[in-house]
Amino acid sequence: MTTSKKILRTCNKGHNYYKSSDCPVCPICEQERKPDNGFLSLLSAPARRALENNGVTSLQQLSTYSEKEILKFHGMGPASLPKLRTALQTNGLSFKN
Ligand SMILES: [Zn+2]
Repeated sequence: MTTSKKILRTCNKGHNYYKSSDCPVCPICEQERKPDNGFLSLLSAPARRALENNGVTSLQQLSTYSEKEILKFHGMGPASLPKLRTALQTNGLSFKN
């Protein structure tokens, strides 16, 4: 018998999960948030919106643009480029030449 009680919780998206602590974070939502749009969380809000407004929500989509094209997005600043470049590189991608 174990003394640690795991409580069945349901997050606001309807995922069922067991947690023994009071931590309210749903592990399923956490995982879903990560995959390849995790790079958006590295950016400042205006830069993130700039990408989202242009339909860029994944690194695959980002790699179809060149750096020049990305910089033309309203709200995108040059400071965001190194972060994007690194995110692409770590996933084996790069900006279009
Ligand atoms: Zn959830």
